Parts: sequence; C-alpha cells; structure tokens
Amino acid sequence: MILPLKDKEERRSYQAEYGKKWYAKNKKRQKDSSKRSKKRVIARNRKFIEEYKISHPCECGMTEAYCLSFHHESDDKAANVSDMVSRGYGIKKIQKEIDKCVVLCLNCHARLHHKEKIEKLSLELARS
Ligand SMILES: [Zn+2]
Repeated sequence: MILPLKDKEERRSYQAEYGKKWYAKNKKRQKDSSKRSKKRVIARNRKFIEEYKISHPCECGMTEAYCLSFHHESDDKAANVSDMVSRGYGIKKIQKEIDKCVVLCLNCHARLHHKEKIEKLSLELARS
C-alpha cells in the first residue's frame, strides 16, 4: 500500500477509511474466523481445566472432572473460573484465578457453603 499523504491527520483518516472499507468487504470472513478462533480457545480452556481437575481431586477422593468445581478460599474472587473458560480468557488469567481456589466435588462444595452459611447465621444471632 502506498501512502501518498504526508500530512499526519490526512494519512490517519485515509488509513481509518481504508480499514473500514476492508472490514466491510471482508466482514463475513472476519466474523467466521474470529468465531472459529474463539471456539478453539474455549476448547483449549476446557481441556486445560479438565486436566487440572483430574490432577487435583477432591479431598474426599472424587476424581471425576465433571463432579469437581473450584472453591475460592479467600474473598478476592475476581471471576467465576467456568465463566472465564467459556468467555475465552487466556490460560494465564485463568491460572491466576485457579491459584485462589481449591478443587472440591459438588457435594463437598455444597457442604462447605452450607457450613459457612450456618456459621454466619449463628454469628449474627449471637450478636443480636
Ligand atoms: Zn468431595
């Protein structure tokens, strides 16, 4: 591409216009391509999570990945790990969130949250 425009502003608007035209002409192909790459990223993320869960079974011994979930141990939760996976986040960001979690099976996870809820309720009752 030859840029005959010496003026910075003119060149910038020429490039913006060129980009717009290019995108309009290639819209469908671009959208299909980004859809495909997002699908690939999500599939990669799912595989990563599954392998992580398999290598980090629940304390009760459950090893089936589909029965396992991530429990945030501290209250610095930035996002839900499974949302990050399906929204196509990068592995580094997902790993950073996983580092704040323990892997628990659905039963142990529910039991833990129930216990926390009961403890919170009894604390509130003791205060009132
Ligand atoms: Zn468990």
